[in-house]
Amino acid sequence: MQWEWAARTDTGLRRSRNEDSYLVRPDKRLYAVADGMGGHAAGDVASRMAVELLDRHFTDAPARGAPAAEVGASLRAAAEEANRAILARGIAEPEKLGMGTTLTALSPLCPEAAVVIAHIGDSRAYRLRRSELAQLTVDHTWVQRQMEEGKLTLKQARRHPLSSVLTRVLGTPELEGIDVIVSDVEPGDLIMLCSDGLTSMVDDADLRAILLGDVPLDELTGNLVEAANLRGGLDNVTVILLRALDGAE
Ligand code: CA
Repeated sequence: MQWEWAARTDTGLRRSRNEDSYLVRPDKRLYAVADGMGGHAAGDVASRMAVELLDRHFTDAPARGAPAAEVGASLRAAAEEANRAILARGIAEPEKLGMGTTLTALSPLCPEAAVVIAHIGDSRAYRLRRSELAQLTVDHTWVQRQMEEGKLTLKQARRHPLSSVLTRVLGTPELEGIDVIVSDVEPGDLIMLCSDGLTSMVDDADLRAILLGDVPLDELTGNLVEAANLRGGLDNVTVILLRALDGAE
């Protein structure tokens, strides 16, 4: 499987800073989106640390053709390193105390036709296969938990005042689970990693309609950012698109 990719980040219309970070390392088979939080400009520090430390600590497992379990373990270990470092910096620099970040990281396997995702927070991974859009990650949010318990509908959750409250992030002393997800891929599949600045503005039906657009990937990322901004652009938006192409590497 070969891959083509495009990535874009945008501050949006209401925020003065962009606290999202992303990583694109096709040579290492590593892609990631992180969305930071914390006062005094600490959010962008946390998200940048997350992607830099992920990059530094992720092994060459996928380049060696390692199986999904090994690649997943390496993604998780790298994310745990980032967690420790973000926490330590928050303690050392009190104005950054309590900073945190989401992280959704993806590694395409080879020769296996699959991707491995490590995920914590409310950034998301999606897969568009033919015309069907599937969310591959589950949000670590209070409203998601309420939905799972049948206490909120999707519609209520989207409009809930606590919709952005996270139950898991990087930067915490007792790190709760980082999800590791394996998804098969077929030629033509489109994988999207994005921050909640996209998904809080654009619902899945509209995302699907945009992703089905027959335009180059870079133009698709622009269309996604534009859609978020047309709906208010309340938050920073970051998106990475990966298209699985037919053909051996
Ligand atoms: Ca955000």
